[in-house]
Order: sequence, then C-alpha cells, then structure tokens
Amino acid sequence: MIELLTAWLLLFMGDFLSTFCYHVPEHVFGRLHLQSHHAARKTFRHYAVLSLHRSVLLDGILGALPYILLGAAFWAVSPTGVLVGWALGQCHVWWRHTGALGWETPHWGKSLCQMLYITTPEQHWLHHRKTTIGYGDIFTVFDQPARSWLSLLRLLRLRGAKEIALQSQ
Ligand SMILES: [Zn+2]
Ligand SMILES: [Zn+2]
Repeated sequence: MIELLTAWLLLFMGDFLSTFCYHVPEHVFGRLHLQSHHAARKTFRHYAVLSLHRSVLLDGILGALPYILLGAAFWAVSPTGVLVGWALGQCHVWWRHTGALGWETPHWGKSLCQMLYITTPEQHWLHHRKTTIGYGDIFTVFDQPARSWLSLLRLLRLRGAKEIALQSQ
C-alpha cells in the first residue's frame, strides 16, 4: 500500500511542480519547450523524448527534474514506490504522445482516465495544438489552475516589458 501511495504522490507532486515551475513559465518566458516540444509535424519519437536531439533531451530532463528530486526525497520511504512512480511516469510520456502514431484511446480507457483525472493522449494533443489549454501532463486537475498561472505570468511579463520601456525613455 505504501508503495502505491508513494508512486501516486511522486507523480501528483511531480506533475504539479513540473507544470507550475517549468512548463507554464517556460511557455511565457522561454523558447526551448515551445521550439522543441511544440514543433509541428514531428515524429512520435521526437514528442515522446525518444529522440537524442539536444533540445528535446534538455526539455525532457528539465520537465522530469521535479520527479527525479522527489524520487530522491521519497527513496527512504519506499524505493519500490519511487521506481514504480518513475516507470509509470515514463510510460505516460510515451502513451500521451501515441496520438502522433494515429492511435485512439478506447472509450473505456477514456472513461477510466476521466474517473481518475488522468490526462489522455487526446487531451494532451489539445495542448500540442493550442498552448493555452490542455495542461497537466499527467493529471487533468492541473489544467484550469495552470491556465490561470499562464495568464498571470503573461500579465507580469507585459508589465515588466512596459516598465523597461518607460525606464529607457
Ligand atoms: Zn507533449
Ligand atoms: Zn507545452
């Protein structure tokens, strides 16, 4: 039981930190994620971080950093739980990009994911097409708050740009 709880907590907290500390801020202030992960007409291997391209790997590592650090912190609680969490997280990275292979989630799979608030490949693909929606790489509960976080950070960037413009006048 402690193993499953550790794995779930690792994925939930990891997705929260990855979304709010890396993914959303990167969409507002950075270029790396947008240029590598949101590039159009790429292969499954590219989106699923199976490509050895430098920018793909770097974006993948930065996004995975919270899961790695949490795994190190939870190791004393349950090493098996950490390994299961990492394995499930990695499988979800591959699975959520199977849209690029033309796969479709069966109806029962979609219902199960909806019940557990898990992001399906279809939902994640919405984010690939439109960067203001479809947040929460693993859990859909982070979608709405992430959109608010995105709006707030965009506003702050705009204000910062205005202040710099005023100061330079
Ligand atoms: Zn993706
Ligand atoms: Zn993104």
